[in-house]
Amino acid sequence: MPRVLIISLIAGMVAIIVANKKGRNVLVWFLVSFLFPLSVVILFFMPPLVTQGKTKRCPDCGAIMSEGVDVCRSCNHEMPINMVKCPSCGVIVKDQGTCDSCGKPL
Ligand SMILES: [Zn+2]
Ligand SMILES: [Zn+2]
Repeated sequence: MPRVLIISLIAGMVAIIVANKKGRNVLVWFLVSFLFPLSVVILFFMPPLVTQGKTKRCPDCGAIMSEGVDVCRSCNHEMPINMVKCPSCGVIVKDQGTCDSCGKPL
């Protein structure tokens, strides 16, 4: 296997991990990093997106962090909202009585 291809594959793998953490499109970033391995560096510096079930936004300072993080890294705000999986549609939503996604009671 040519060395360039190995580098591309490694860059692609790293892109999958980082994109997944940041709530970004894993497939797109894999392809982009495979073709242009240096774009992984760009991905590292890109801000994460708010993605249901993967990332959430701090209600206090607006920082975006991984789902499951209980204390905000930038302001130390403790997350008061529990995220639950809706029994009706399976989407991960805020535990607030009704589902944000389908409107059914949780
Ligand atoms: Zn915060
Ligand atoms: Zn639902």
